[in-house]
Amino acid sequence: MTTHIKGDGLPSSDDVNLQWGMERSALRNEQMIGDKVECNACPVLCQISDGRVGACDRYANRKGILIRIDPVVVLRQGSTCASEISDLSERGSLSVSVEDKQPSDSQGMFVTGIGSSTTYPDYKPAPFIVASQSRGVDMVTVVTEGIFSYCSLKVKIDTDRYLGPEQAAVRCNGEVVGHVTTAEYGSQMLSLGGVHHLTGGTKKEGRVTMNMMQDLCNLHPVEVSIDGGANVVLQAGQPPIVNGITEQRMRVGCGSAAIGIFAQQWLGLCDEVVVVDDHITGVLSEHQAGRCLNMQPSGIRIKGRKSTPGRYFQVANPGTGWGGTDIQDPLAILDPWDSAVAWSGLRLLMTSTTGEHSAWYVLDDQLQPQIAEMPASVRRVVDRIGENCEPSMVSVLFLGGAGGSLRAGVTDNPVQLTHAIKRALVNVTCGGAPSYVWPGGGITIMVDVMRMPPGSFGTVPTPAIVAPIEFTMRLSDYETLGGHMGYVRSLDNSLKYGAWHNDGAPKQIRWVAPPASDSPWPLDNPPMLG
Ligand code: SF4
Repeated sequence: MTTHIKGDGLPSSDDVNLQWGMERSALRNEQMIGDKVECNACPVLCQISDGRVGACDRYANRKGILIRIDPVVVLRQGSTCASEISDLSERGSLSVSVEDKQPSDSQGMFVTGIGSSTTYPDYKPAPFIVASQSRGVDMVTVVTEGIFSYCSLKVKIDTDRYLGPEQAAVRCNGEVVGHVTTAEYGSQMLSLGGVHHLTGGTKKEGRVTMNMMQDLCNLHPVEVSIDGGANVVLQAGQPPIVNGITEQRMRVGCGSAAIGIFAQQWLGLCDEVVVVDDHITGVLSEHQAGRCLNMQPSGIRIKGRKSTPGRYFQVANPGTGWGGTDIQDPLAILDPWDSAVAWSGLRLLMTSTTGEHSAWYVLDDQLQPQIAEMPASVRRVVDRIGENCEPSMVSVLFLGGAGGSLRAGVTDNPVQLTHAIKRALVNVTCGGAPSYVWPGGGITIMVDVMRMPPGSFGTVPTPAIVAPIEFTMRLSDYETLGGHMGYVRSLDNSLKYGAWHNDGAPKQIRWVAPPASDSPWPLDNPPMLG
């Protein structure tokens, strides 16, 4: 029988030589019977044969040593290189100098949680607790790879096309993975993933949900279908594809807003303008904007429910036609004109909120609208509606709960971390990207995946999502909140030796430029620095 080691990839605190930069003691190894290495970085507890990887593809057994496969991602300011990998020292060669492997200016570097490793639940200090300076202040960043069972995606789809009824199930590969939530201004919204779909249904539902979330977070396309609605291809940063048609424009505003914006430009060119919209259809002559311009009543009658003058709800059913309604012929929303008011020759413009649909009519002697060629002067205003539409895009925000055991990797008194974050003493980032921390209890964060380095997310088959998270604060605050001060290392040391678990593998660092140039640098959070 061969004796092999069992290792979680992290040394116990007793074993760690906390004088980083000196030769470290061996990893905590436990004797185990069998020919595999057991990974206990998550509760799946994979037993991995030599040369094989674990169920999450993140850890592997290399010659009896558990290793984290992916490089640690380090942001480098001012880099022109999108991604570059450095191999650092090998096991047993910790004296290899790293100076020639890293940029000379260490100030512009930030170690992210991507590829950093962790345990789950977190029962050991985070793999990187990095000391640095910002504006002359001693800082520390606690870096870890969070495993999120409680997490979801908020997906914003810039379109006024009808995707499905509110609360309708959203399916991926036939499994329910979320639902349609409240529409926002110019956008349809989906809530996807979440703990109930990850863990509360069948195994297949959990697996499909997890893979869908990982793909969307890593900027890959995902096709979903909405019960009673549309098929949509979603990809962060790309236009949505609704029932096979790539969406182009996000509407300039609702029908009423469009009337307000363009009323003056239509004055004198049209006798009436109707901006067809699933939510609020606008009618120029009745609208306050038309009244202010002394427009003459036209005698038009609109189907639907009048809200306020010139603003109508429910003119048609929602759909993928004009202005997010189901109509293809805009005249379908008109009742017969008021013959006491309307006149032969009246000029009528009907347009959608994006200007993609538009038509020009002239009333005949029977007060019937007859299609006619749109004058160039009117066309120019319609084109301007299109010009004022922003490109339609899918945005994906990752929402995760970091208020659980993950905090134990930061401090031995977790509620202190929660309080410090609420007091803006701690800047929470994900892969270096700024996060929004929700008010109230816990640490519920939300981050735009487009601001994170590509490939930031992984999975474990519990099932859960793996996402990077970093907590940056003053070193003095870290000490106050009960931080693991004995584990603080310099940036140089962190880059040289990598995370603790990496002792048995080539240490690789992937240098990347911050994906969004307008994101604040994680170490420069003004409230935190006061
Ligand atoms: S799924 Fe991954 S992290 Fe979990 S035990 Fe297996 S190899 Fe380790």
